[in-house]
Amino acid sequence: MSYSCSCSRERALAPLALFPPDEIREMVDEGGSDVVCQFCGRKYSFTREDLLALSASHEA
Ligand SMILES: [Zn+2]
Repeated sequence: MSYSCSCSRERALAPLALFPPDEIREMVDEGGSDVVCQFCGRKYSFTREDLLALSASHEA
């Protein structure tokens, strides 16, 4: 089956922005987080810097 998913790093990161700041902070403490696309199984790795940028935009 060939099927191309339209996911991207940005799309994978977007749902994390909806997480409560506490949970984002937990992921930062763990050094980062991986998000696996539920459609194609592609894995995106986010560093703690990526997550910190998210939590910063939370506070803005
Ligand atoms: Zn995908």
